[in-house]
Amino acid sequence: MSRQQEFVLRTVEDRDVRFIRLWFSDVLGRLKSVAIVPAELEGAFGEGIGFDGSAVEGFSRIFEADMVLKPDPSTFSLLPWRGEVEPTGRMICDIDSPDGGPAAADPRNVLKRTMEKASKAGFTYYVHPEIEFYLFKSGQLNGELPVPVDTAGYFDHVNGGTANDFRRTAVQTLEAMGISVEFSHHEGGPGQNEIDLRYADALSMADNVLTFRAVVREVAHAQGVYASFMPKPLADQPGNGMHTHVSLFEGDQNAFYEPGAEYQLSTTGRRFVAGLLKHAPEICAVTNQYVNSYKRLWTGHEAPSYICWGHRNRSALVRVPQYKSGKSSSARIEYRGMDSSANPYLAYSLILAAGLKGIEEEYDLPLEAEDDVWQLSDHERRAMGIKALPASLAEAIDAMEASELVAETLGEEVFDFFLRNKLEEWTEYRSQVTPFELARHFNSL
Ligand code: GLU
Ligand code: MG
Ligand code: MG
Repeated sequence: MSRQQEFVLRTVEDRDVRFIRLWFSDVLGRLKSVAIVPAELEGAFGEGIGFDGSAVEGFSRIFEADMVLKPDPSTFSLLPWRGEVEPTGRMICDIDSPDGGPAAADPRNVLKRTMEKASKAGFTYYVHPEIEFYLFKSGQLNGELPVPVDTAGYFDHVNGGTANDFRRTAVQTLEAMGISVEFSHHEGGPGQNEIDLRYADALSMADNVLTFRAVVREVAHAQGVYASFMPKPLADQPGNGMHTHVSLFEGDQNAFYEPGAEYQLSTTGRRFVAGLLKHAPEICAVTNQYVNSYKRLWTGHEAPSYICWGHRNRSALVRVPQYKSGKSSSARIEYRGMDSSANPYLAYSLILAAGLKGIEEEYDLPLEAEDDVWQLSDHERRAMGIKALPASLAEAIDAMEASELVAETLGEEVFDFFLRNKLEEWTEYRSQVTPFELARHFNSL
């Protein structure tokens, strides 16, 4: 038994923990949970906890339904909302197939594998997300539109507002679980908020994002409101982006930092960005995985539609942010495409794979886009070599299907499942007769 495992066993005993929830992510990034009692813990660390994977999205083909949960002791924490007396603990799990090896369909394993590849090239991979979400008065729609908890906007201070209390409690809860928060503020839409996490290695951060969404929903529930990470819940308001800041380190040196270079961005950094731009359409079905994601990408409100990079440019897909000069550890790039509903394990894997490809193949970085690319005409964008992100889930599926990079990174099983799942969603969506069509045509055609 490892020291970390011993530490968990001791804590469970000392704190009189009554349940330990084993958490994992399905292929779409949704949290799954099973509770065990302390007596099962040693066995869970040893041979693992068996479960039927066939009912979990993307987990197994029918003939290999048995899967095994292996809790990662380094992720142990108590769930603050379950109280101090006889508390509940939780650990994030890896998933093994019954024959012992890591399960091909485990998104956490996909990320571990991709990070391993980076590590062979000498890089460690750090990320931090800015996570946007809406607070609504209720989760019950009954055919009506969702009603936000306030009418405030970007950085607004709302006296006595729900959002203040909400953010305070959410941040305290996250910190109590060992997740460091950097900023929190009201975002542009009514009832929309953002919480930015402090950077961590990508595996810990993917675990953190999974936990974050659970915490935010839990705190909302306790306060009698409803939190939604849906990419675009309100047609005429901003969507929920999950801008992601990325850096690579070589040892303790930030590989994206080069003093004197333009924006202090090193050649490695430039190639990483070039890789992201080149492969952005292919990874889009994962970073923006729902029909609804494309409503966010294609209606302005500072969500990127076009594939370009910039420094101050908020219409760009990739931004090279300003940071305090001399603070080389902060050198990073910001990928602004992803939305808050993405599976962080798979999305971080593909961002890394695209960037590494750019480094390996020494891609050239195109010129910076200094203008607001939404204001340019198609002709002007074409002249500048600026392409568009997929306009719909269907286009994103096509780009993913043709991508060797995505197939190789996700592995055959996740790749196939993902495409099948998304094609089903698109086919179902395509068959809808929408309120838009009825309003437009019913009385005139
Ligand atoms: N909500 C915007 C988006 O969907 C981002 C706003 C911001 O710049 O933070 O990406
Ligand atoms: Mg924001
Ligand atoms: Mg941002």
